[in-house]
Amino acid sequence: MAWECGIDGCNAVFEDVESTIVHQATEHTRQECKVCGTVVPDGYLAIRHAFTEHSRAEYVRAYGASSEEVRNREALLEEIDDVADMEAIATELKR
Ligand SMILES: [Zn+2]
Ligand SMILES: [Zn+2]
Repeated sequence: MAWECGIDGCNAVFEDVESTIVHQATEHTRQECKVCGTVVPDGYLAIRHAFTEHSRAEYVRAYGASSEEVRNREALLEEIDDVADMEAIATELKR
């Protein structure tokens, strides 16, 4: 299965989800969380931060997201959580 980066304007494709997330965290500009101001890697890790550190209501308020966008992101998180080796990603990012 191929994974696409998914960040606007970037069509990079990777063989595994870990490479995709490492790519997002290293090749893309870090983003400031609109809820708490923490600077987080773009892409999956930004979404993960928003949904694990903040409530859905906070996310909707800060990002002006529709309920469909929230559902899409939650589905994406679940899908990636199932397959991603977060330890491998963390190790890779510490280098
Ligand atoms: Zn990308
Ligand atoms: Zn935050």
